[in-house]
Amino acid sequence: YEVVGPPERTYKVVFAGDAAVGKSTFIVRLCKGYFVNNIASTLGVDYKVKTLSVDEKNIAIQLWDTAGQERFRSITKTYFRRADGVLLLFDVTSERSFLNVRQWIQSIDDTCQTRVPLVLCGNKEDMRATAAAEGRSTVSLIEGEKLARDCGAFYIETSCKTGIGVMDALVQLARQMVTTE
Ligand code: GDP
Repeated sequence: YEVVGPPERTYKVVFAGDAAVGKSTFIVRLCKGYFVNNIASTLGVDYKVKTLSVDEKNIAIQLWDTAGQERFRSITKTYFRRADGVLLLFDVTSERSFLNVRQWIQSIDDTCQTRVPLVLCGNKEDMRATAAAEGRSTVSLIEGEKLARDCGAFYIETSCKTGIGVMDALVQLARQMVTTE
């Protein structure tokens, strides 16, 4: 996905999902290629840009973080407005964040006239085995896939720690955005 030459188009991608599912960490993993534990909450900067080459097209993707607003359930419609795509994250070790996925999709659908390309990510995949061993309930691949199917979304398990699935999720979303035009 190495980029040679200037981007032909810029896309706006917004991150959605409950607080602490890993949205800011996901952006750092995508842009810097490493894992940071406990990022200071997003202050100031609205988005980071990642350039990609998909299907022989150079594109720039703005990755918009929520700046912690999701904690107050006050994500305004302006956040999702004019989004070209959404990366919706939940934490596979947090049942609550999984149960809230439908609500997130509802708010996105309420804001955008047409369904925007959306990829659902079951994040913190690296923590599932430990969480399960501790007796905590976790979300399986099958459950994640089923929810995504019900919502008409693509599903992928990710880990910002190991990096698994992170780039694949963005590339999958980029492909959808490029082809929906
Ligand atoms: P946000 O509120 O959705 O932006 O979540 P953060 O990016 O602040 O992440 C919350 C916490 O989860 C931080 O301590 C991260 O380091 C941690 N975290 C995020 N993604 C992963 C992951 O894939 N695996 C593990 N083990 N920890 C993660």
